[in-house]
Amino acid sequence: MQFYSTNSQNKKVDLKDAVLKGLAEDNGLYMPEQIPVLDQSFFDDIQNKSLQEIGYEVLKPFFCPDIPEADFKALVDDALNFEIPVVEVSRNKYALELFHGPTLAFKDVGARFMARILSNFVSGQEKEINILVATSGDTGSAVANGFYKVPGINVFVLYPKGLVSEVQEKQFTTLGENITAIEVNGTFDDCQRMVKQAFLDKELNEKLVLTSANSINLARLLPQSIYYHHAYAQLRAKGIENDIVMCVPSGNFGNITAGLIAQLMGLPVKRFIAATNINDIVPKYLESGKYNPAPSKATIANAMDVGDPSNFVRILDLYGAKHKVVSQKVEGYSYTDEDIRDVMKKTDADFGYVLDPHGATAYMALEDGLKAGEVGVFLETAHPTKFPEVVEPEIGRKLDVPERLQAFMKGERKSIQMDATVEKLKAFLMK
Ligand SMILES: *Cc1c(COP(=O)(O)O)cnc(C)c1O
Repeated sequence: MQFYSTNSQNKKVDLKDAVLKGLAEDNGLYMPEQIPVLDQSFFDDIQNKSLQEIGYEVLKPFFCPDIPEADFKALVDDALNFEIPVVEVSRNKYALELFHGPTLAFKDVGARFMARILSNFVSGQEKEINILVATSGDTGSAVANGFYKVPGINVFVLYPKGLVSEVQEKQFTTLGENITAIEVNGTFDDCQRMVKQAFLDKELNEKLVLTSANSINLARLLPQSIYYHHAYAQLRAKGIENDIVMCVPSGNFGNITAGLIAQLMGLPVKRFIAATNINDIVPKYLESGKYNPAPSKATIANAMDVGDPSNFVRILDLYGAKHKVVSQKVEGYSYTDEDIRDVMKKTDADFGYVLDPHGATAYMALEDGLKAGEVGVFLETAHPTKFPEVVEPEIGRKLDVPERLQAFMKGERKSIQMDATVEKLKAFLMK
C-alpha cells in the first residue's frame, strides 16, 4: 500500500518512507491511499478469533507485503503480548481496559508495534536506527519500554531534570540495554528544541540514522485499530452485536482516528463519542463547524491537555473535510476537573470500579450520550495507579500498585546529565 500526505494527495510514498519520515515533507500527516474493507465473514466469526489473529487480519492490508506476511505475523504476536479485556462497569457500559501493558497505558500498543516495524526495516542492514524522543513523562516511558531490547534500535529519551514524576522517571531510567535516559538541565521545551535541532543537523544525519517516535507516526496509529475490533469480538461473544457506541477519551485524537478507520474497514460501530477535558476544541468544532485551536489548559486528565490536536487533520481527511459528515460520525462532550473527580468517586461508590481521570471523562460521556437500547464501550486508557494523587482522594483509600509498576520502582535509576544545548547532544551522539 502507498501513503499520501494530508497536504498533497498525489505525492505518494511507500510504507517504509512513511514510517521512517513520520511527518511528510510538506508537514502533512500520512494517510493510507485507501481504507481496505474486510470481508463480512471476518466479522461473522470474529468472536472466535484471538487478539493476535484479529491484529494480523486487520493490519495485513496496510503492512504486507512490504513486511513479509510470516514476519508480520510473528511481529503482531510479539507486540500484542498482553490482554485487552472488555469489562462491564454498569448496565450497558463496558470498559475496554487498555492498561495491561508494560507501562499501564494504551500507548504501549502503538509503541510496541512501531518498534518492531522499524526493527524489521533495519534487519540485515548495517546501520542501526536511533530514536530521539523528548518527553514530559508518559511518552518516554511507553517508547522506552516498547523499544526495549528490540534489535537494531537505540533509544535516547530526553527529559527535564526534576520535572517528571518519580514513577514516570523510573519507567525509562531503569531499563538500560538499548535505552539511554538523558536528564537535561532545562525544561520540556528545551528537550524538544534539542531533538528538533538534532534532526536538522546535517553532520549528525550523515553519520547516524535518526528517527522520531512521535505519536503522529502511522506505525503507532494504525495498530490502535486492532482493539476496537477486539472489543467488538468480546461483545459478540456475549451476544451483543448491534447499536454499539464507542467512546474515546481524546487529546491528540490519534486513538479515535484509529477507531474511525476500524469503522471504515467495516466494523459495525453505530457511532463514536469523543470525550475531552476543558480543552474542548474538537467538541466545539463538531457543534459549530469552526476549528479554533487555543493554548492548552492544564487539567487532572493531563494526557489530554491539547489545544490543537495533531490528528484532527486526519479525521477531516477521512470524511472529505465535510463538517456535516464528521459531526454525524462523531459526537463530542467535554468535562471540567470537578466533573471528572465526581464521576471517579461515584463510579467507585456505586459499582466498585476505579476509573483513571482519562477513562472517567469517557465514562461520563457515555452516561450523557448513550440512548435507550444502545450499548456503550469506553476506552480505559491508563491504569488509575498512574495518577494516585488525583484518584486516591476521591475514592478515599490507597490503590494497590500492580506488580509491574512496583518492579520499576525497585530498579536502579541511571541517566546521563546534560546541559540544554544541541551541541552537547550532538557530541554525545557522535560518540
Ligand atoms: C495519550 C493519552 C490519551 C489521548 O490519546 P490521543 O490519541 O492523543 O487522543 C488519553 N488517555 C491517556 C491515558 C493517554 O496517555
